[in-house]
Amino acid sequence: MLETPLTKIKLLNPEYPNKSTGIINGKSSGFLNWNDIAYPKMYDLYQTLLSNFWKAQEINMQDDIKQWESLSEQEKDVFLRINTQLASLDSLQTPTMSQVMDYVTDSSFKAIFAVISQQEAVHNESYSYILSSLVSIDEQNERFNQAKSDPIVRKRNQLILEAYEEFRQHPTPQRLFKLGVNSINLEGIYFYSGFAFFYHLARQQKMLKTSTMISYIQRDEMQHAYFIAQFIRILLTENPELHTEENSKYVYQTIHEAVVLEKEWAHFILADIKGIDLHEFDRYLEYLANKRLRQIGLKNLYEERINPMPWIQVFSDEMMNDTKSDFFEQKSRTYSKVSQSNGFDEL
Ligand code: ZN
Ligand code: ZN
Repeated sequence: MLETPLTKIKLLNPEYPNKSTGIINGKSSGFLNWNDIAYPKMYDLYQTLLSNFWKAQEINMQDDIKQWESLSEQEKDVFLRINTQLASLDSLQTPTMSQVMDYVTDSSFKAIFAVISQQEAVHNESYSYILSSLVSIDEQNERFNQAKSDPIVRKRNQLILEAYEEFRQHPTPQRLFKLGVNSINLEGIYFYSGFAFFYHLARQQKMLKTSTMISYIQRDEMQHAYFIAQFIRILLTENPELHTEENSKYVYQTIHEAVVLEKEWAHFILADIKGIDLHEFDRYLEYLANKRLRQIGLKNLYEERINPMPWIQVFSDEMMNDTKSDFFEQKSRTYSKVSQSNGFDEL
C-alpha cells in the first residue's frame, strides 16, 4: 500500500462525486466546486494565497540601481550568490508543485498546488528581474554557473532532489509523503540565510526595493510551508498506514538534516557579513524547525525559545510597526498582511 504506485488521475470521472473521498486514491469527478469540498478551510487558504498576489514589475528598482555601486565588493558578491541560489530553489519547486497535481485526487488541493506553482514562477522571475536591473547577462550566467557548481549548494539541494526525483520516477504514497517533508525544508528552512542577508541590508537602508520583493516572497513561502504541513497531516490521517513511527523519525531526521545544511551554508555565505550573529542565526533556524514540526503535528526537536531574530519575520505586527515606512511604501495599503484575520497561529 505504502509503495503501491499512484497512477495519473483521469481528467474526468463523471460517475464520481465532485467532493473527493480522499486526497490520494479518492473518488472524485475532477470538477471543482469550492462550495462542496472535503476540507472547507482549504478555501480560506486559497483566498489568502490569492490576496498575496504581486508581481516583480510593480516594484521600481531605480533606488536599488543607484545604490548598487555603493555596496562593498563583498556585499555585491554575497548578494549575487544568494540571489541565484534562491532562484535555483524556486526553479525546482515550480514543476514539482505542478507534478503533484496529477496524483492528488482532491480538486481543491490541486487548485492550491496550481497557485503555489504559479507563485514559485513569480519568485523565480523576481530574482531574474533583480539581476537584470543590476548586472550584465554575462555576469548573471557566471553567477548561475557558480550556483550549479558550488559544493555546499549542491549538497543542500541533493537532499531535496533525491526525494523529488524518486517521486517523479515512481510516485507512491510513501514517496509523496517524503516529497512533502522535503518541500517544507525547501519552503520553510532553506530560504532563510538568504532572507536574513537581504533584511540585514534593509536594516541599514540598503537595497530596500529588493528587500520589499524578498518580503513578499517570504510571505508566500510561509503560506506554502503551512499548506504543505496541512497536506501531510491530512495525508497521514486519511492513510493511517503512512502514520508510522518510522515516518515520524523520517520527519525529525530530515528536518534536522536541513537545519544542519542551512547552518553550514549560512556560516559559509554570511561569514564576513558584519552585523549578523551566526550563533544567533543557528538558534533562529532551530526556532524555525520547531515551528515546522509543530505545524506537522510533531513536537519540538530543539530547545523551545522565542524568536531570536524577530527582524527576519517582516510580516509580524511588531515588525510592521517599527519598520521604516518607506520600506513597504509601494504596497503598504493594497497588500494584505498576515494577521489574525487571514493568517494562522503557527505561521
Ligand atoms: Zn518560492
Ligand atoms: Zn514556495
